[in-house]
Amino acid sequence: VDSVGSDEAVIATNDDASSCKRCAVALGYWKDRYINYFVKATDRKAPEINRGYFARTVTIKILVDKFIEVTNGNCQIVNIGAGFDTLYWRLVEEGKSVKGFVEFDFPGVTSRKCLYIQRTKQLLQAVSDEDYDVKLNRNNLHGHTYKLTGVDLRNLTDVEAKVKESDLQPDLPTLFLAECVLVYMPLQKSAQLLRWIADRFKSALFINYEMVNLGDRFGEVMLNNLRTRGCDLAGADACQTTETQRKRFLENGWAGADSCDMVGIWSRLPPEEVARVSQIELLDEQELLRQLFAHYAFTTAWTDHRWSEVTL
Ligand code: SAM
Repeated sequence: VDSVGSDEAVIATNDDASSCKRCAVALGYWKDRYINYFVKATDRKAPEINRGYFARTVTIKILVDKFIEVTNGNCQIVNIGAGFDTLYWRLVEEGKSVKGFVEFDFPGVTSRKCLYIQRTKQLLQAVSDEDYDVKLNRNNLHGHTYKLTGVDLRNLTDVEAKVKESDLQPDLPTLFLAECVLVYMPLQKSAQLLRWIADRFKSALFINYEMVNLGDRFGEVMLNNLRTRGCDLAGADACQTTETQRKRFLENGWAGADSCDMVGIWSRLPPEEVARVSQIELLDEQELLRQLFAHYAFTTAWTDHRWSEVTL
């Protein structure tokens, strides 16, 4: 597969993630009134997939809410490889405001997201501001708080320029989010990006969600599935264990890091929520769910020790 072909395959992983989220939302795993504007109909996914997406989405939401709470909204959020994520709209709906909310992805993804936002009143309203005209072009949208920008995250010069254009303030507490993104970047490129963020944002928290424990048979099957679809998993070596995940931050300028697989995360989620979603679908294959959870992890890293407290 050539590099353009593999970028296309990586871009397609967003359609996949978005339709899985839409499916889980339709079944009642969590509330999201916006996902339907980005993804049309979708087929029904397996129960363990739905639960996996629930655990991932609810964990991010809990951590983001905590960060907004401890910073009193005096913060920025930067979602790298955001895809069709709807977090911004869910926060606006809940009245949780931040100083800046920036999303980066390949222009091939942001152009489609721009189009959906532009033609959907419910999406456009939340990025608009009475005193500020939303600026829109093919790949980029510039609202007062919300900014959506097309960029190749492997190109640091481009990232630097786009970060500047996004009016991000390096001194403000800043939460970086990467949900199944770094694995698609060559290790050296993601390392460069992480180091650059740590150097520039002195009060940053990074939340990284991706695969781990890829060395066993199950991990191999997961990797092969993605590779058969043409994805270049150039960053998979950083996903060997939760420890390799932690190290990638510690070795690239971050002051501290924690990593926990989804088996551990699941046991820390609010019990009433776990009880509620466990009723939605019957799971005949508990072992399959456990295997799946053992192969994904949340890693948090901080340049400012205050944010080490943002945990489940
Ligand atoms: N974070 C979203 C979510 O979890 O719903 C999307 C996840 S999807 C699996 C991976 C995303 O990362 C895609 O939208 C893809 O385009 C983006 N991505 C991967 N490599 C990238 C790069 N080098 N530059 C910009 N975006 C990239």
